[in-house]
Amino acid sequence: MARRKLVYEGKAKILYEGPEPGTLVQYFKDDATAFNAEKKAVIEGKGVLNNRLSEFFMVGLGHVGVPTHFIRRLNMREQLIRAVEIIPLEVIVRNFAAGSMAKRLGMEEGTPLPRPIVEFSYKDDKLGDPLVPEEYIIAFGWATQQDLDDIVQLALRVNDFVGGVMYGVGIKLVDFKIEIGRVWDNDFMRLVVADEISPDSCRLWDMETGQKLDKDVFRRDLGNLTDAYTEVARRLGVLPTNVTHATKPTLIN
Ligand code: 5GP
Repeated sequence: MARRKLVYEGKAKILYEGPEPGTLVQYFKDDATAFNAEKKAVIEGKGVLNNRLSEFFMVGLGHVGVPTHFIRRLNMREQLIRAVEIIPLEVIVRNFAAGSMAKRLGMEEGTPLPRPIVEFSYKDDKLGDPLVPEEYIIAFGWATQQDLDDIVQLALRVNDFVGGVMYGVGIKLVDFKIEIGRVWDNDFMRLVVADEISPDSCRLWDMETGQKLDKDVFRRDLGNLTDAYTEVARRLGVLPTNVTHATKPTLIN
């Protein structure tokens, strides 16, 4: 079998050329990185879980009329997506203060925000994805004012959908990051949700106990990341079939 052409390798995913023009295969790796890849590990099962969880959210968004890059899942670790032109921004939506916002403003993590806040970081690992104001985005031509208005609308719709689904399974959506891509249908440009939606890119806290069920478990050494993601998948009813995480031999008395 001919090897597929690698298009891009990121920290947690690989993109290969897809079977048809305008498509890509997105492969979810088990690699976890934090603090701009200063902290690294391979976490068995993470890629499988994120593939399923991202599929779950992208399909759900499609059902409520939010366009995404997702076409279909191919196997345990891969999904077929539309090739998009990624806007070089991380679009972050926050419902409660946490992470960099809590640190920057000296707020206690978990403080409810008066309304969802949408902010933008410039996607550049070397610079550590710095927060950028809309002025920069427009002046540097990364997006127009109209694009930004549309991106904020998309981000808030994703927030309502993912936040509502999570609420239904007893999980608080504290904040999340999405990426937005442009797709061209002839001369007509549309913005779609791209990249992934998974516990790698969201903060998810158990509503009752406050237990963290997201990548902060890895960032802050709070326990087993696969267990946390498995719990999210279990509650959402999207646990992959034929996968057990008891991969090591177990002694039976
Ligand atoms: P913070 O700015 O507080 O570090 O992150 C806000 C939210 O965006 C968190 O849910 C975090 O997981 C997500 N986020 C921010 N930057 C990145 C990134 O580079 N990669 C991923 N996967 N998520 C990010």
